[in-house]
Amino acid sequence: MHNRKIVIIFVSIVFAGFFALVADAHALSVKSLRFGRQDSGTRIVLDLDREADFRAGVQDAPPRIVVELPTITGRPAISRSQLPDLVRDVRIEPAPGGRSRLTFVLNGPAAIRTAFLIPASGKDGARLVVDTAPVAQAAFSAQTSRAFGTLPAATAGDTPGSTLPFAGIAKPKLDPIGTPVAPAIGSPTIDLPQVDTPRIPGERPLVMIDPGHGGIDGGATGSGVSEKVVTLSVAKDLRDALEKTGKYRAQLTRERDVFIPLAQRVRIARSKGADLFVSIHADSMPGSTAATGASFYTLSAQASDAQAARLAARENQVDLLAGIQLPSEDKAVAGILIDLTLRETTAQSKRFSSLLAAAFRDAALPTAPTPNRHAGFMVLKAPDIPSVLIELGFLSTPAEAQKLNDSAYRHTLATSIAGAIDTWFKGRKAP
Ligand code: ZN
Repeated sequence: MHNRKIVIIFVSIVFAGFFALVADAHALSVKSLRFGRQDSGTRIVLDLDREADFRAGVQDAPPRIVVELPTITGRPAISRSQLPDLVRDVRIEPAPGGRSRLTFVLNGPAAIRTAFLIPASGKDGARLVVDTAPVAQAAFSAQTSRAFGTLPAATAGDTPGSTLPFAGIAKPKLDPIGTPVAPAIGSPTIDLPQVDTPRIPGERPLVMIDPGHGGIDGGATGSGVSEKVVTLSVAKDLRDALEKTGKYRAQLTRERDVFIPLAQRVRIARSKGADLFVSIHADSMPGSTAATGASFYTLSAQASDAQAARLAARENQVDLLAGIQLPSEDKAVAGILIDLTLRETTAQSKRFSSLLAAAFRDAALPTAPTPNRHAGFMVLKAPDIPSVLIELGFLSTPAEAQKLNDSAYRHTLATSIAGAIDTWFKGRKAP
């Protein structure tokens, strides 16, 4: 949709002096670096020899876009005349944690609109795409604490992994730039491998509980109450309630105040072989102090209403991973299987969503007028795990924020969710 509008004039920059310095099987090779014009913005494309985790962000003084990748082999020579207006210089340097850092020094403040990895498909190799557009200084400064991508922040103790020399391409004399500071996004997240977890006969089913937001991503706030705190508290109560039944195992995607990208939350659930995924959030309605009640969202390409679409866009924005991209392991699943699985998963997700609304009504907990809705939430995209995202209520409504800040109320919410989960499992077809 958005992509079709893009008028791309690509300039290929030849990596003429591309000599391999490191014969490391895990090292990454950047085959080419291209720039495209896109509306008012500039698209940066790195053609990679394989898929790789990355971390992209902006830094100030001078304004620059910084992309961290696993160690890149070789040292590319880039012709300065081929840089777009926005970019003054490109540098590649070793970075802490055995990584390479690509720095695009900008001629003025520009924000990252989105940054995502396109997995290799057919004869197209993997590509890393960073879309950027000029913005006012204030908007630029606001983005310096934000990171895109799946690579966690390097920790302070990490030392540069290689001695790849600085490779700026601008005039010999460059303004010095300080040591880039990685945005503080809490502790590094764990990247769990995708593993097949065959169900051990008699093992209790696993519920993966996903407390929304965390770390630098606080989520919504209202009346001094922060979404990321509410979600973690309800999630822990829910885990305890489920474990207490003796019938289920329950785990959290995060146990602490830490940032975890959306795709990673899905990956955690899949790697653990979860039977059910519950993402917990609290909403905020800009400009309103009257909206109340919980809503239960399932995944759909078509949003049930405009508000659901806006909400999904807002929730998805927290790490702007590709927007429509499924986690890469999904590629392993053949098309027909995906289709069949999705149909069953969607039906089971909807059943869970209805049971949640019923449980809330039974407990006299407030629900929105149309509580069962759907939209394109990133975090609900596991093709094989029934998933629901719960918006517990509105932090923008002071009375509701006050309730969500109350531990007894949160406990009631958790107990009702646990009740709906129990009913859901009872009605599930034997696998
Ligand atoms: Zn949220």
